[in-house]
Amino acid sequence: MASDDAEGDVTPAEPLTGGCMCGSVRWELSEPPIGAGICHCTRCVRRTGTASSYSALALKANLEVVSGEDSLGFYAPDEGWHKYFCGECGSAVNPGQPELVGMRMGGFDGDPGVRPRFHQFTNYAPVWAPVPDDGLIRFPERVDYAALAEQIQREGGEVPTDRLPGS
Ligand SMILES: [Zn+2]
Ligand SMILES: [Zn+2]
Repeated sequence: MASDDAEGDVTPAEPLTGGCMCGSVRWELSEPPIGAGICHCTRCVRRTGTASSYSALALKANLEVVSGEDSLGFYAPDEGWHKYFCGECGSAVNPGQPELVGMRMGGFDGDPGVRPRFHQFTNYAPVWAPVPDDGLIRFPERVDYAALAEQIQREGGEVPTDRLPGS
């Protein structure tokens, strides 16, 4: 599973829909996400209750919450993005900021059309879940978007690197 052709045969589901565990919150993306990564930070570990967080990055303008918007709650940490969740079942939904949303990849009904290209905050991976040796680019702290963009551009992709925040 080389990272340089990870998305070669990937076809996004159509339409790109998803939602929470209980089905209250449903959303649709009009365009596929622009990229994805795996975060091992303590915040993601706590928030998900699991080893890491698989997130696809999408433009907020392309996201429509088609049902359950009233059920959405969020936690606003001192720094970083608001963490949205379904108030009925607690599923993480779409942490985001004004222009971008980090879509939980587990929330997609079908293939999101992107694959993780990097690991970030690998220094903080739980001892019980070491970062796998899967060939993806690793960042001990927050993803270095310049380095990542270089790799993505080599693969013919395009990323708005000046607007990409962290988790
Ligand atoms: Zn729910
Ligand atoms: Zn994180």
